[in-house]
Amino acid sequence: MNNQNSDLREINKFSRKAAHWWDVHGEFKTLHEINPLRVNYINLYTPLAGKSVVDIGCGGGILAESMAKLGANVTGIDMSPELIQVANLHQQEEQLSIAYQVTTAEEMAARSPARFDVVTCLEMLEHVPDPRSILQAGATLVKPGGDLFFSTLNRTMKSYLFAIIGAEYLLKMLPKNTHDFAKFIKPSELAGWARTAGLTLIRMTGLEYHPLSKNYFLSDDIAVNYMVHFKKA
Ligand code: SAH
Repeated sequence: MNNQNSDLREINKFSRKAAHWWDVHGEFKTLHEINPLRVNYINLYTPLAGKSVVDIGCGGGILAESMAKLGANVTGIDMSPELIQVANLHQQEEQLSIAYQVTTAEEMAARSPARFDVVTCLEMLEHVPDPRSILQAGATLVKPGGDLFFSTLNRTMKSYLFAIIGAEYLLKMLPKNTHDFAKFIKPSELAGWARTAGLTLIRMTGLEYHPLSKNYFLSDDIAVNYMVHFKKA
């Protein structure tokens, strides 16, 4: 198996917290809170019913489950065996049939080129050694004409203040050391890697947090968290 593009320290960081994945008030509450926004965005531009989707870095299955509930045929992959176990237990309670696997995007791409209508990979690129390789794998996994959705954190002064100082230290929305600023990705970098992989940028949206109302919303401001829709020709 191609493990070279996984950072074991990163995977372990998530694995240790596997038991709390579905606690909507716990350490991953941010993922729970932003999830409806992300799913609606994806489903608006790529209606998911009947589509085959691979969710790369699916964790305990927050996004995968909501896509399955919209009628998608979902495969979820993650390098944390603990999280895949949590995802499987949780989907049993929900009576879903998502195909979860412990594997990398690269390995799956080698095995199943052009197998999926849609590729999703949210909040994961900033945790891997070589995000370019994930873009490449995504481009291989998707069918010609298929859609890909990536989200990550921009590398700006504002994202340092909001996503690290604000979220990890002041508001304690995320555990300390969740993120490493140096691994944040500028939209221009992501778009460049995608272009090299043969993908076309279709649209982009920012995802903002309003600390007073404690609300998340989609916006034109991509300085902190953003999501991009690509298409393969
Ligand atoms: N995509 C999910 C979880 C994001 S957390 C969501 O947005 O709800 C990041 C996830 O990426 C963790 O589950 C972690 O185990 C996984 N991950 C990190 N590096 C990975 C790699 N190289 N291959 C597959 N999964 C990886």
